[in-house]
Amino acid sequence: MLNLDLRTVLLSYTLCNLICAVVTFSLWRQNRSRFGGLGLCMTNFLLNFVGILLLSLRGIISDFLSIVLGNTLLAAATLLLYMGLAKFLERKINQVHNYIFLGLYVVLQSWFTYGNPDLQYRTILFSVVIVFFIGQIVWMLFTIHDSFIFTIIKELRIISIFYVLLGVGRIIYASVIPQGDDLLKTRPFETYVFLGFQVIYVSATFYFFLMVNKRLVHKLEADIVERRNTESELLLSQEKFLKAFINSPDPMLISRMEDGLILDANEAFERLVGHNRAEVLGSTTLKLGIWANPDERAKVIKHMETFGRLREYEFLGRTKEGQVINLVYSGETIIINSEKCLISILQDVSSQKVSERIVQIRLDLWEYSSDHSIIELMTRALDLLEDLTFSKISFFHVVLDDGKDLLLQAWSTRTKEIFCKAEGENKHYSLDKAGVWGDSVRERRPVIHNDYAKLATKNGLPEGHAPVIRELTVPIFYKNKIEAVLGVGNKDSEYTDKDVALIENVSSVVWTIIRQKQADDKILQLNEKLESLAMTDELTKIANRRAFFIKGAEEITRARRYHLPLSLIMLDIDRFKLINDTLGHDSGDFALQCVATTLVEGVREVDIVGRLGGEEFGVILPNTKIEDAKKLAERLRIAIADNSDLKTKLKLDITASFGVAEYLVQIKNLDELLKNSDTAMYKAKNGGRNRVELFTSELG
Ligand code: GH3
Ligand code: MG
Ligand code: MG
Repeated sequence: MLNLDLRTVLLSYTLCNLICAVVTFSLWRQNRSRFGGLGLCMTNFLLNFVGILLLSLRGIISDFLSIVLGNTLLAAATLLLYMGLAKFLERKINQVHNYIFLGLYVVLQSWFTYGNPDLQYRTILFSVVIVFFIGQIVWMLFTIHDSFIFTIIKELRIISIFYVLLGVGRIIYASVIPQGDDLLKTRPFETYVFLGFQVIYVSATFYFFLMVNKRLVHKLEADIVERRNTESELLLSQEKFLKAFINSPDPMLISRMEDGLILDANEAFERLVGHNRAEVLGSTTLKLGIWANPDERAKVIKHMETFGRLREYEFLGRTKEGQVINLVYSGETIIINSEKCLISILQDVSSQKVSERIVQIRLDLWEYSSDHSIIELMTRALDLLEDLTFSKISFFHVVLDDGKDLLLQAWSTRTKEIFCKAEGENKHYSLDKAGVWGDSVRERRPVIHNDYAKLATKNGLPEGHAPVIRELTVPIFYKNKIEAVLGVGNKDSEYTDKDVALIENVSSVVWTIIRQKQADDKILQLNEKLESLAMTDELTKIANRRAFFIKGAEEITRARRYHLPLSLIMLDIDRFKLINDTLGHDSGDFALQCVATTLVEGVREVDIVGRLGGEEFGVILPNTKIEDAKKLAERLRIAIADNSDLKTKLKLDITASFGVAEYLVQIKNLDELLKNSDTAMYKAKNGGRNRVELFTSELG
């Protein structure tokens, strides 16, 4: 029979817990980031250490510390062990009932310490609490579903069963055998119990240690597998990205954000900018001159710094050859070797932009042509084409005489203002004398001279002409005949077939508009001619009767509206029949023309002279009183009678009789006024001819 001193046993139990606490402390320290619950398990041993130390000091320290606090700490430690294990095994267990149970225990424990001090009840009570908590641990350990965990807790399951059994044994023992009132009184069963607890705790800690390590190894293995998988996934995605990057039909590049240093670029990018791989790598986008406007890079970078990405930003780029291209930029920031970089994708939308622009230009030119001259239209087309082809000078000349003669017509605004001061508008230029710019007419096809300086056949430029670096000239055909030639020059980069296509496209429209406009102008001129024919007397070229009536009516309206005087002279050549009869009809016609000329020359510009029919004429005198009209009629009469042409050519004295009437308010229209003049004129005829008579009311 083992008769050990119980205080000694308890002290060794204390030390045992301290060792367990140290072991679990090192477990917690190393693995706390990987597994939960280790801290709670460690605390369990620490509380046990303190609790048992307090128990072992029974009689030396107060009952409160030794009995109430000591036992409470031990009970709480067991609950912490349960909670720690649950956490470690990733079981979520509601502990509310256990807290209540613990609280109840503290109350009863205090009752059996102070109210009704009884070691037996306290021992039973404590053991019930331990069995209650450890029993739950057993239940938890037997209901684990994870197959791996299930295998590593085998030993713990057995130990926890032993723990429960020991607790149950202690309840039975304490219930049957009176305990007295001294805990530390040497009792063999209690000695076994406490030794049993020590064995359980040490072995539990040992297996717990193993379990943690097994779990750790398992986790590390899983980590290694996972990392391997991730690595291979990463490799795969890197490979995929690289393939996509290299084979992308869209130009792509990776560059350093700070300075635009190109770290990598795909073939499509090299093709786009025209630089080879060796030139691209290690250079910067700025050095390569990819930004037509270098300030634009700063804008893109600023946006990238703020938002980390940029989508569909349109800008003008430049190729190695200096061609300006329309680009759309999309990019994203990435970190490479802890440096901020950009992965960028570009789209060349130049041809799309040019098509849009051409449609716009064609519409613009049609609209512009409606209220501008042909030369203005040509100038406008040149201005637009200069923009479109990045040229600095341009001309538009007409080809005449089946290509033998060139008529200089138009230059762009810029060419005219700044450069070309040598040539003159509407100057004729023989094709034989025209320099290389006439090649396209001679060869009947578009001609590009990209290095003007080296051309052997050039004539040289006239003084004041802009220096020509390169030029492109395009003949404009109509029904297989060259009708015009359009040229642009001095683009920064070389002219290509693309420029030819642009110019052919626009120039054909311009020429169509010009032809249409020329046809319209011709119709307009014809109409004007017709109009004037309809208003003019064919023989004398003065206003005919119709025109005289139209204009006369307008003057009467004006006189009426503004209360202005107006007079009308009517005259009839005397004995005209005689002229015809004796000298012939042609002489009669000549006489009529002479009289008409005399009349026109004898009146003011505002007066209207018209042939009313046969050898009868009328003169409307706006703003003229009858007295003044009479004086004028008198002068006209003398001028006719004295006409030297008539005298010398016809050798005849020609006279005319004049009737003058004035517009009065009661006169309704021109007819009435004419009738009055006519009346006066017949008075003059009757009065002996070659005289002037005024209309008076008595005559009417
Ligand atoms: P009076 O002094 O009374 O006016 O005599 P008259 O001969 O001028 O008279 P009348 O009005 O009878 O004659 C007009 C002539 O003018 C008749 C016609 O043959 C002639 N005549 C009319 N129009 C033209 C024309 O366009 N050219 C020519 N040569 N003769 C014309
Ligand atoms: Mg007459
Ligand atoms: Mg007459």
